Amino acid sequence: MRIDIVTIFPEYFGALDVSLLGRAREDGILDVNVHDLRAFTHDRHRTVDDKPYGGGAGMVMKPEPWGEALDAVLEVDAPVVDVLTVDAPPAEPVEGGPIVIFPSPAGEVFTQAMARELSGAEHLVFGCGRYEGIDQRVFEYAGSRASVRLVSLGDYVLNGGEVAVMAMIEAIGRLIPGVIGNPESLVEESHEDGLLEYPSYTKPAEWRGLAVPPVLMGGNHGAIAAWRHAAQLERTRRVRPDLLPPA
Ligand code: SAM
Repeated sequence: MRIDIVTIFPEYFGALDVSLLGRAREDGILDVNVHDLRAFTHDRHRTVDDKPYGGGAGMVMKPEPWGEALDAVLEVDAPVVDVLTVDAPPAEPVEGGPIVIFPSPAGEVFTQAMARELSGAEHLVFGCGRYEGIDQRVFEYAGSRASVRLVSLGDYVLNGGEVAVMAMIEAIGRLIPGVIGNPESLVEESHEDGLLEYPSYTKPAEWRGLAVPPVLMGGNHGAIAAWRHAAQLERTRRVRPDLLPPA
């Protein structure tokens, strides 16, 4: 999978060099390219923001650097479409082509199901907003060249899209075949079957007066599976009842 990230803080993504995703990059499973949005500016101050039309607090990211950055990262997939040429209708996004994801608290909420769906893409582009966000026309332009999704990490506001993109890449990347050594470990995880995962234990059998549930040490696989399923249901009911179907 090819991943392009556009950001004004490329250093946030140094963490993609370590652990399983770092190994996936070394192995050529993930091809990650981080681009500094300021490289697509042409003024002395490398300006990427300006005051909002209509007034209001904060600054808005300017469309011009974003347009050039998107042209550059989408170049690998499709010819550049000049949406400003009146006679040329905007191109339709190519089926199975690149998907451009803009993290946004105003987007659809990121889920394990979305991570799984996106793990099948060949090319993902992430555009990290800052300040009050990105000029709306950037989303429209991107939509003329690729599939576009505004995706929220949850109902809270971050300072920028970088942390959200890191979280999404980690959730998506670990689902790509070959990234996790034992694919079976993905199957029983929280959210894969609509329930939270059961509690896990390892040695020693007793630690600081706390014992491992005896059923897990008895070797009866049917009883272990039943215990784990009951623990999943109990935990989900207690912590995330919204995940359960209505009674
Ligand atoms: N003014 C925006 C609003 O109220 O919707 C918030 C802008 S926020 C300070 C700056 C950037 O952080 C956003 O453009 C987005 O890239 C990112 N961001 C903030 N919260 C996020 C969330 N919950 N999920 C994904 N991205 C988020």
